[in-house]
Amino acid sequence: MELTTKGRYAVMAMADLAGHADEGAIALSVVAERQSLPLAYLEQLFVPLRRAGLVESARGRSGGYRLAKPAADISIAAVMEAVEEDTRFTRCSHNDPRCSAATPCVTHWLWTALSESMGEFLSSVNLADVIAGGRYSSAPLFAAAVRATGKRTYLDYNATAPLRPEAKAAVIRALDVTGNPSSVHAEGRRARSVIESARESVARLVGAKPSEIVFTSSATEANNWIVAQPWATMLTSGTEHDSVLAPVRAARGEVVMLPLDTHGIVDLKQLDERILARDFAGPSLLALQLANNETGVVQPIAEIAALARSRGLSVHTDAVQAAGRVAIDFAALGVDTLALSAHKLGGPKGVGALVIRDHIDLVPLFRGGGQERRRRAGTENVAGIAGFGAAAEAALRDLKSAAAIQALRDEIEASVKRISPEAVIIGESATRLGNTTALALPGKLAETLVIRLDLAGISVSAGSACSSGKVGASHVLEAMGLSHEIAAGTIRISLGPATTKDDIAAFLAAWTTIAGAPALAA
Ligand code: PLP
Repeated sequence: MELTTKGRYAVMAMADLAGHADEGAIALSVVAERQSLPLAYLEQLFVPLRRAGLVESARGRSGGYRLAKPAADISIAAVMEAVEEDTRFTRCSHNDPRCSAATPCVTHWLWTALSESMGEFLSSVNLADVIAGGRYSSAPLFAAAVRATGKRTYLDYNATAPLRPEAKAAVIRALDVTGNPSSVHAEGRRARSVIESARESVARLVGAKPSEIVFTSSATEANNWIVAQPWATMLTSGTEHDSVLAPVRAARGEVVMLPLDTHGIVDLKQLDERILARDFAGPSLLALQLANNETGVVQPIAEIAALARSRGLSVHTDAVQAAGRVAIDFAALGVDTLALSAHKLGGPKGVGALVIRDHIDLVPLFRGGGQERRRRAGTENVAGIAGFGAAAEAALRDLKSAAAIQALRDEIEASVKRISPEAVIIGESATRLGNTTALALPGKLAETLVIRLDLAGISVSAGSACSSGKVGASHVLEAMGLSHEIAAGTIRISLGPATTKDDIAAFLAAWTTIAGAPALAA
């Protein structure tokens, strides 16, 4: 026996409403698109569903349908019945002239019993059972596993790293430090010494002098601060983080986008012969990240800085993703300024630093008190800075585990290629951070993969973003010249010092099921 289209479509559409119940009334066109169902057919089905009191309609701009009762109170049998789907097993048990209750055919009671048990089953299952987390949801095994163990696998270190215990302890200790670091009394001096000790630790992590570190509220602030200087011309690339690109776009000066190869790496020859060959009238900046947050691809910053500085340009690098993952020597890089963020190293969120070569004078972003040697006004975030210092110390120590982290990343890539030979690994042959892999499965949307993995207890990110119902594509991947399909289909998996072989096995188990699921097609 096979259900007819109306019963199956009605249950799919009702499950869609149940799965998006928090969105209020939903237009049938949205349900039709999400479930790949014909809209005209759905419109017909919703007339009896409303008549049966299972959905209610809402008019107006946000018009559409919502469930008339909680999903758990709507059985699948009720939905079938509303659209007059016949769930009896054969005609024998109801309208076959050769068979009736008075003169049953030889198999009559067999089919009757079967129909009854099917009816009982459909009455015992409700809409909540088929949506995410339910016993018949499309990821039942994973959802059940996550529910049973409560264990999640965190593979999103490039978004933020888990707080290191050393950093947490330092934050807690510093919260009890009463003084204002600008005060001259003992309490003030104590707070000052917490900051200065953290400054030394952060300086050590990047091979800078403590006097070159200025603490900020984030790397976003550090990047904005540099871009806000009165530059006549700014040179940057399309793969930068938005905390560079957005202020560059808003700035008054001339903007030059640097040519990139297919890995997103600046083309040194073109930079030298085409871009830097001209005269730059007025102070000019080249701003380029050390490693990309989505792909992990590393720029040859020392070479680029040498070229740019030889033509009189200032050079800034956003080292947020590189710090703590590769050794950094601020002096040897030859840059003028470098941005850092504590939370990418296992420090607290909301604290960063701009590393500024000793002789360089910047126009302050904030004016007020004389903190940070008059370069950044505002009472310092003592606890955050203390946590940053402790995280920097630990990250420097952990640099020796970079090879082990890279081995785990390489295992993911080799296994993914075995499981899904069509998978694309972005920047595979380029120099990359050993903790990052960006993977695309042609024909599959990154957002869907991320949601499926999340249901399976695995946290990863998509470079693309979904706004107003449209799937976006990663600006980084598009700037690398990759197709829209790849730019909208790439997920980022990023590892850290706490990542284990078990985490990799959990990811690969989920990937094996999810990558093959047909419903993922865009
Ligand atoms: N730069 C890069 C490359 C990043 O990945 C991020 C964070 O995602 C930032 C800057 C911004 O850092 P913060 O969160 O400290 O503002």
